[in-house]
Amino acid sequence: MTERAEQPDEQSSPRHPEPPVYVVGGGPGGLAVAAELGRRGVRTVVLEKADAVGASWRGHYDRLRLHTTRRLSGLPGLPMPRSFGRWVRRDDVVRYLEKYAEVHRLDVVTGVEVSRIEREPDGGGWVLYASGGRRLVGRAVVVATGYNHTPRVPDWPGAGTYQGELGHAGAYRDPAPYAEKDVLVVGAGNTGAEIAADLAEGGAGRVRLAVRTVPHIVRRSTLGWPSQRSAVIARRLPVKLVDLAAGVLGRVAIPDLSKHGLPRPDTGLASRARQGAVPVLDVGLIAAVRSGRVEIVAAVEGFDGGRVVLADGSRIAPDAVIAATGYRRGLEGLVGHLGVLDERGRPRVRRARSPRSAPGLYFTGYTNPLSGMLLELARDGRKISGRIARREARASVRRGRREARAAERERRSAPVRGAAQR
Ligand SMILES: Cc1cc2nc3c(=O)[nH]c(=O)nc-3n(C[C@H](O)[C@H](O)[C@H](O)COP(=O)(O)OP(=O)(O)OC[C@H]3O[C@@H](n4cnc5c(N)ncnc54)[C@H](O)[C@@H]3O)c2cc1C
Repeated sequence: MTERAEQPDEQSSPRHPEPPVYVVGGGPGGLAVAAELGRRGVRTVVLEKADAVGASWRGHYDRLRLHTTRRLSGLPGLPMPRSFGRWVRRDDVVRYLEKYAEVHRLDVVTGVEVSRIEREPDGGGWVLYASGGRRLVGRAVVVATGYNHTPRVPDWPGAGTYQGELGHAGAYRDPAPYAEKDVLVVGAGNTGAEIAADLAEGGAGRVRLAVRTVPHIVRRSTLGWPSQRSAVIARRLPVKLVDLAAGVLGRVAIPDLSKHGLPRPDTGLASRARQGAVPVLDVGLIAAVRSGRVEIVAAVEGFDGGRVVLADGSRIAPDAVIAATGYRRGLEGLVGHLGVLDERGRPRVRRARSPRSAPGLYFTGYTNPLSGMLLELARDGRKISGRIARREARASVRRGRREARAAERERRSAPVRGAAQR
């Protein structure tokens, strides 16, 4: 059930004397937790700042398909339909998320942006401050506002003087506006690599890709075996072993692109992934680089009027620059004051754990594992909901005992009062 909020909400209603568990964010992560909580009988409300669930997916570029397989990307309680094919299109991901909320009858309130989360003064629950002057009280809160929350553009010197078009990859939809143009894509992560290939195939005049750190490139699948499956298996193996195996496989499966400016990385794939840099799944970059339709250039150092200054000292003058330079988590305003974030702004805890100083506060979607984030979100959904349900059950037993003791006291004191009145 999706409803749009019209007036400040309240913490509980006569129909629901107990405050709910709030989930902040109606993307796959938030929906998965909410569905699992619902299945366990925990009243849950999802607060979503956009007009509909799956807002991030609605905003992604047109050609995007999941690079994880359909079977390993479904959320708990609803597999993705076979008709979506193996590599699911962006629009189908959106349709799936809409259906997911409907099938699980999730209580999603759209148009509500949560700006701050605080512990209730008595320490019992959580207060959420949200748009429209709302003050909501929840028994527990799950933060699911997304890993790719706030577009991050480096603070390039001279960027203000650049006369060309400078935008973030988050705003890129399709190559049409770049027809015949000279475009520089900055950043060779999955997004930058795919946008560069899309531009090259879609009629841009010239496409260059600025690379600071050479990425690991992996085939999306080899002889029908998806690399995601290998990554799932690799989760249980020592990092060094995975680095070694991935290095050998990489030399067999990926052509040497050194003469095109992309040498093989000298760090291990799994070691890099541990630091947060997942490999690039090839959906056109290798072919585009080999054919010269995407040219590799050095990293961007800054801007100088109409020119972009590169790390090797060269200066180029593209018509447009697309910064595929990642995102920030953007959690500081929401929970930064609770001391639950690390120096990089990521939650200190993961999975079903609550910070010691903030019991009842959970996070999902702030890691980027090799095995695929959707798979991870599905796991988190099950684990976090299980933890909350157990916590609720314990609290309910305690409440029951307290009520029973109060009733007993009441019963014992009643005749005494009666006697006094006589
Ligand atoms: C281009 C791209 C391709 C990807 N492809 C894959 C893939 O193939 N396979 C895979 O497993 N993973 C993939 N991912 C990673 C991941 O699965 C997605 O980013 C996924 O959408 C993450 O889900 P989420 O719910 O954590 O965050 P999001 O989908 O970003 O959802 C967060 C939601 O929270 C809302 N929100 C944010 N702040 C607030 C607030 N303060 N109050 C209320 N609501 C708020 C947002 O509007 C949004 O709807 C991809 C990511 C990107 C960027």
